Amino acid sequence: MNDIHFFSRNGYLPVPKILQLEITTVCPLKCPQCYKSLNPKHIQMNTLTNILNEAKNAGVKSIMLNGGEPAVHPDFIKIVKMISQEYGMNAYCFLSGYNMTEKYANELNSDGVFVTFSLNGSCEEVNGLSRDGFQYSINALQLFNKLHIPCGINWVARKDNVFDFPELVQLAKRLQVKWINIIRNKIVNDSIQADLQTDEYEYLAKLIKEYRNEIEIRIEGCNSILTYFIGDRAGDLFNGCQAGRIAMFADIDGDFMPCSHLYYKEKAESLLDYWNHSEALKRLRESNKVEKCEGCIKAKNCYFCKAGAKETHDNFFAPYEECAYKNFVQQKWVENK
Ligand code: SF4
Ligand code: SF4
Repeated sequence: MNDIHFFSRNGYLPVPKILQLEITTVCPLKCPQCYKSLNPKHIQMNTLTNILNEAKNAGVKSIMLNGGEPAVHPDFIKIVKMISQEYGMNAYCFLSGYNMTEKYANELNSDGVFVTFSLNGSCEEVNGLSRDGFQYSINALQLFNKLHIPCGINWVARKDNVFDFPELVQLAKRLQVKWINIIRNKIVNDSIQADLQTDEYEYLAKLIKEYRNEIEIRIEGCNSILTYFIGDRAGDLFNGCQAGRIAMFADIDGDFMPCSHLYYKEKAESLLDYWNHSEALKRLRESNKVEKCEGCIKAKNCYFCKAGAKETHDNFFAPYEECAYKNFVQQKWVENK
């Protein structure tokens, strides 16, 4: 049975294609949106090598380097080269721009390496509402532009920056940024701060459709609600929560979890042992087969964020009560009556 048949039948791939890998919990920034309690340390190289060996042998295609700030790991460049050159997997680097130098940038300019800088606003004021380190990102983006190295921007869509999106796009175009990743706002201290409401989703979706002619705009899988407002990716099995379906997470100690936002830490013999026998993944996958949000037109195939909906944090089978899309559909239904 090939992967797609297995996926269609079971709702998950026989092996994960994406591994999020936490290589450090050290971070020099103090972002208001940070969801991690950081006990600062770096991953041990033998832990990292074991995980990469298992990932490669299992058939993982992409490693997403996660932190903390990945670039502060003393062997960051070595790790990126190991992944992309020795192991032949893609290395996705999500960076703040901290520590970025011309030498570093040139070392990252390699096949299979994708660098994205986090920036939540076009100016210090907007960015500062959720992120620290505005100038680090801007300096890094300018440097990559000067050196003609492709890179992207990671932008978390929030209530406090959504109306800045047109300015962010203009900034990205001026700096010849190749793509903007739109990230779902995640849970921090048991709630989602500054979550988008229905009218803000509508506003953003309209802009994305317009700006797509000017710059590549990618919507992360976790942001399926936004894709419903845009009206694309219908039937795309890779849309929606990827945890346990396509992707999994390994933390700094080499322990596995569904994703960095679902704290269900389990010990396993190996990456594949976890993928095949984890209790958390089993429950998550079972919950994905059940229609949870009664009365919603998307209920059948909606893989909404189980970490984002606070009610579901300990119950994967609960509906997403505050879903802005459901409100949107209900409003339209009332207007058309
Ligand atoms: S109400 Fe539930 S099924 Fe419908 S779009 Fe929202 S999260 Fe998905
Ligand atoms: S639980 Fe939420 S944050 Fe984690 S992979 Fe799924 S959608 Fe993304």
